[in-house]
Amino acid sequence: MSDFDYDLFVIGGGSGGVRAARVAAGEAGAKVALAEADRYGGTCVIRGCVPKKLMVFASEYAHMPDAARAYGWDIPDGSFDWQAFCGHLNTELDRLEGIYRNLLSGSGVETFDTRARIKDAHTVELASGETKTAKHILVATGGHPVRPDMPGAELGIVSDDIFHLPELPKSILIVGGGYIACEFACILHGLGVEVTQYYRGAQILRGFDDEARGLIADAMRERGIDLHTGTNIVEMRAATDEDMVAGDVTLATAPVEARQIGAKDSAQGKPGSGPVWTKATNGKTRVFDMVLFATGRKPNTADMGLEEIGVKLGRHGQIAVDEYSQTGVPSVYAIGDVTDRVNLTPVAIREGMAFVETVFKANPTPVDHDLIPSAVFTQPEYGSVGLTEEQARDLEEVEIYCTSFRPMHTAFAGKPDRVLMKLIVSKASRKVLGCHIVAPGAGEMIQLAGVAIKMGATKEDFDRTVAVHPTMSEEIVTMRNPIRTA
Ligand code: NDP
Repeated sequence: MSDFDYDLFVIGGGSGGVRAARVAAGEAGAKVALAEADRYGGTCVIRGCVPKKLMVFASEYAHMPDAARAYGWDIPDGSFDWQAFCGHLNTELDRLEGIYRNLLSGSGVETFDTRARIKDAHTVELASGETKTAKHILVATGGHPVRPDMPGAELGIVSDDIFHLPELPKSILIVGGGYIACEFACILHGLGVEVTQYYRGAQILRGFDDEARGLIADAMRERGIDLHTGTNIVEMRAATDEDMVAGDVTLATAPVEARQIGAKDSAQGKPGSGPVWTKATNGKTRVFDMVLFATGRKPNTADMGLEEIGVKLGRHGQIAVDEYSQTGVPSVYAIGDVTDRVNLTPVAIREGMAFVETVFKANPTPVDHDLIPSAVFTQPEYGSVGLTEEQARDLEEVEIYCTSFRPMHTAFAGKPDRVLMKLIVSKASRKVLGCHIVAPGAGEMIQLAGVAIKMGATKEDFDRTVAVHPTMSEEIVTMRNPIRTA
């Protein structure tokens, strides 16, 4: 008989927390409770991957009537109804949240719809003041988007806000060059918003393969996104009526009356509530209907009681854990974005499963963070696994196999779109160290390439695989000669 109320108390009902809770309860027979202050499903389901991907689908239809006409269809251009889309989106998110709740109750997990914080190594305090004890506490509270520290930054929206906009802006400035900035630049452009993007570095998608980054940046500009690299925003404020007609200000496309109505709202300082005057590092001033900060995310560790009980936090506020997701306080574990290891949903789920295996199934399981395939849902999409060329050549001698071409589907429709297939191969072991695909459906392709590469496939293994014809991905097994060694 345990001296605790529960064997496990999970704080946070996102992908990682829910998986750990229901597997610990359902498979390991543990007595489990979970507290969630917001909606079940967390960032991924409620304000991240899922609604974002549905917006990607919505935005991709923008190009379809044109392409369809090239294939002989007689269809007119349509118009996009944001409110109709949001209605469907909210119904879908409600459905998914219901599934998450049912998964928990079906596994026997007791849930508390409230904020929880840690009181001591075995005690959790709910917002009501009520306390619960547990043999183990798992923190899976995720992260939140952050605005830069800059005058007027509170006027900008963050990615969480996108899904709640009453209407789409006519024009938007997106600040940042990471996943979220680039994905939303493509989505919003597809939905008809005039998109400008400022990125402070030399090329977007830092950390990814240079050639892939270059191709995506070119494609985004080609499609009409006004992408400025080496540029940042230094100042912003609510636009005044004078700004709307001032000489040194480039106006957004919205009708002047609409922006003037909005100007009164943004003067009240609400994020996203009206046009914003901005000043860039190059001195240019410009008015946009909206500014979106996609300038990174921070772990949700504030006021959690963590440091008070001796849990160490890193420089960005992330919880420091070992390979078993255990903190320095032995009864307290943490998984997912709150640990800022690899901030991806499937990784949080893996970490949750490994935690249950380690703690409740007496099978110590470290989390394997090596060779994680992932996709950036830009248009064109980018799938990658393993090392970039730049990372690989710093480690050993490599051969680079790379091809870029116009795919049949869009070339027939007269579109300039290009795809890229790239393999980075160790000269010594012949192993494929990295695979980079920029193409429609690259996320789907990289999942499968990821299996082979995780198994340690060599270039010769790729070579002896017969091509599937006619596809884009056949190029991945038909590249015979390296384009360079490095
Ligand atoms: P990222 O860390 O990927 O990008 C942040 C961007 O903001 C970088 O370009 C960074 O520039 C820039 N930036 C940071 N601070 C400032 C500042 N003060 N002023 C101007 N620019 C700034 O964060 P995201 O928010 O895009 O995404 C967070 C995480 O969410 C990702 O790392 C990823 O793990 C996950 N995610 C995954 C997705 C997927 O799998 N498809 C989709 C969306 C998110 P610099 O490069 O110079 O640092």
